[in-house]
Amino acid sequence: MRDDAPNSWEARADAHSFYGFTDLPTIEDRGAVVLTHGEGPYVFDVHGRKYLDANSGLWNMVAGFDHPGLAEAAKAQYDRFPGYHAFFGRMSDQTVMLSEKLIEVSPYDTGKVFYTNSGSEANDTMVKMLWFLSGSEGQPQRRKIITRKNAYHGVTAVSASMTGKPYNSVFGLPLDGFIHLTCPHFWREGLPGETEEQFTARMAQELEDVIATEGADTIAGFFAEPVMGAGGVIPPSKGYFQAIHKVLKKHNIPLISDEVICGFGRTGAVWGCETYDFIPDAIISSKNLTAGYFPMGAVILGPELTARLQAASEAIEEFPHGFTASGHPVGCAVALKAIDVILNEGLIDNVRALTPKFEAGMARLLENPNIGEARGKGLMGALEAVADKATKTPFAGDLSVSERIANTCTDHGLICRPLGQAVVLCPAFIMTEPQMDEMFEKLELALKKVFAEVA
Ligand code: PMP
Repeated sequence: MRDDAPNSWEARADAHSFYGFTDLPTIEDRGAVVLTHGEGPYVFDVHGRKYLDANSGLWNMVAGFDHPGLAEAAKAQYDRFPGYHAFFGRMSDQTVMLSEKLIEVSPYDTGKVFYTNSGSEANDTMVKMLWFLSGSEGQPQRRKIITRKNAYHGVTAVSASMTGKPYNSVFGLPLDGFIHLTCPHFWREGLPGETEEQFTARMAQELEDVIATEGADTIAGFFAEPVMGAGGVIPPSKGYFQAIHKVLKKHNIPLISDEVICGFGRTGAVWGCETYDFIPDAIISSKNLTAGYFPMGAVILGPELTARLQAASEAIEEFPHGFTASGHPVGCAVALKAIDVILNEGLIDNVRALTPKFEAGMARLLENPNIGEARGKGLMGALEAVADKATKTPFAGDLSVSERIANTCTDHGLICRPLGQAVVLCPAFIMTEPQMDEMFEKLELALKKVFAEVA
């Protein structure tokens, strides 16, 4: 794959672009895939190779890579008013309209929105809001944040502390006061003989115990993705959110739904919390919010947190927080269009229509003796590779099984993502049935080839 000519794109990428979240031995061996453009769910590299992107970028390019309406919305807004901030009581008309729209499509009758440039910053902002409330309401000790192992909430120092992944130890994270509960993955974490209901009850009891140990009045909030995304596409165990929410309500601890991946359609409803039937105190949105056409995040506050933050801010005459590009007019115009496209141009209907085919494709691959679990919700799924299906024993780490599968897929013109020993699929919402067939056929070939090598 790698073009070793001294001035190749691969060599130029190596020379001056720092790779993040990238397996460096793979790059050493194969070189970066340098992309030029896209069409529908496909992307093209500098060598003219075409790939079906089964991950829709990073879960976010849900309307595909060439949606004319989204590009036009950006262009029209660039022509009209290309940039402004949301400080000092000024903001663009697009910002006002997007906030109205977000509250309209949220589970809340009333509420307010705060804008960021990314999902990480939105989670950071939410934590700062909770800390601000604690100080302002005379409970400065109420600062601890509870999340789950395997959760992914971002990479800034605070959101990385919320992220429950061991790799953050290289940064000396998490910061103090970030607590990670058991990942509610019944297949992996369930005890022998335990039913799913018993497992869920155990997860709720663990939360109850942690609150008792730490002290309810030291905990500022609980954050959860409805379906864990970058942790390996892990839907919650049956009844999980109802059980957890009951405990949180009892102790007056806000539940924040991190909908950066699930929000705007991925699970087949507008929100993941809708799919799992709970109403959080606030929602974190990004990615699909602009269908990936502009970097933007949003904190969507329900009525109670809105009222409390309003009061706390009035008490000191301002909320001292904001980014230069918070509520960027082009981002807001693109988000308004993206929401329209997702809700009114049939994208969310397509998610629902494609889900049975997606599930059937996953179920077929589960028949492979080295696939231990096929899990997911809506159009997000993961296939977990195992050396031994009966005992759920993973492959030896140095075999890099999921990386090999992903690399073999790339060789066959399919982009999918290795995560732990799983391979993740989260196609664009505009995917057609033949494209979905192509995705599963190519993945099946790659699984057969790699398992023949390692099993
Ligand atoms: N929360 C979740 C659930 C995410 O999946 C991500 C990104 N994958 C983030 C937060 C962080 O978003 P960003 O990369 O835009 O900072």
